[in-house]
Amino acid sequence: MLKLRSPSHQEQILALAMRQIEKMLKEMQSNGKNLSRLKLKKFQKTHHIDCKCKLCEDAKIKNDPRLRGLLEDGFKVYVEGAKKSSQ
Ligand SMILES: [Zn+2]
Repeated sequence: MLKLRSPSHQEQILALAMRQIEKMLKEMQSNGKNLSRLKLKKFQKTHHIDCKCKLCEDAKIKNDPRLRGLLEDGFKVYVEGAKKSSQ
């Protein structure tokens, strides 16, 4: 889990992570693993709707939910079709 303040720095880290992940996946593929249904999804979890922290208050004032404080920011890896109930 990455917790960094600066968005641009965070983006750099994410770009680096993506390169590492891509490399790892290519290695797996060359080892004969079937990755055709493997999916990678970026997710962000915002603070609770009633949160009173500065970021969330600010987001409320500006009426922009993207400004809300974030609890988590990361990636989820999943295999498409593994769960029939998903989405
Ligand atoms: Zn908050």
